[in-house]
Amino acid sequence: MIPGPDIILACPHCEALAKLPTFDYVDPTGALSWTDGYQELPGVPRQPNVVRCHACSKVYWLAVAPQLGFLNPGEVGEGDRAAWNDLPAVTPTDEAGYFQALREGLAAFPEQELELRVFAWWRGNDRFRDCKDDVRYPTNPEAIANAERLIELTESGDHELVLFRAEALRQLGRFKEAGEALYGLCSDYNLARERQRELIAAGSRNLDVLFTEETLNRLAAEQEAAEREYLAEAQSSDGDDVVKS
Ligand SMILES: [Zn+2]
Repeated sequence: MIPGPDIILACPHCEALAKLPTFDYVDPTGALSWTDGYQELPGVPRQPNVVRCHACSKVYWLAVAPQLGFLNPGEVGEGDRAAWNDLPAVTPTDEAGYFQALREGLAAFPEQELELRVFAWWRGNDRFRDCKDDVRYPTNPEAIANAERLIELTESGDHELVLFRAEALRQLGRFKEAGEALYGLCSDYNLARERQRELIAAGSRNLDVLFTEETLNRLAAEQEAAEREYLAEAQSSDGDDVVKS
């Protein structure tokens, strides 16, 4: 991981300053995809979309926070920028923070509501990613209501949303509907669909690993080999044509 500049932001509620660390390069080794669609890179801090202000405790979309400038890695701010040197980093939002964001009206339209609900769900599911508990799905009323609303919002969505929907249905134990939702996926999502079908057939509601990096690498290698074979065949049949003509 190679750090990039720290961006200096002002809270849109109280104007308190904070810094947003960025990264110029992130090593993709060990990437993991989860059944809820969350993709994890071990050791890499999450790039937040909604953060909590350290001064007023309100939450806000990073995208609407005024950006005052930046400090490059190792740079020490001087003059007017000296105050930037010791700013706290923005605090990424947890599950409770996303519920707060929904209550405080940060969802101005349905796509934003869906984004906040998916992130609330992911941050709630985080507690199950490194655990072997028998129960690894939402059990508290607010998290269940969130998953139910997420299912409503993804009713006529595209493929990625179909996977969110099927997973939320499966986590709520609505296996028949989860299986039906998977019909909405095109063949690009075969592997994810098969994994979901296995879990549904096993009657599992638990959050699980969808793909490891090894699976993705193996698939990429298989695809490459198939393309090479196809090209070799196409070239040899071109040769045949030349001979015939
Ligand atoms: Zn504030």
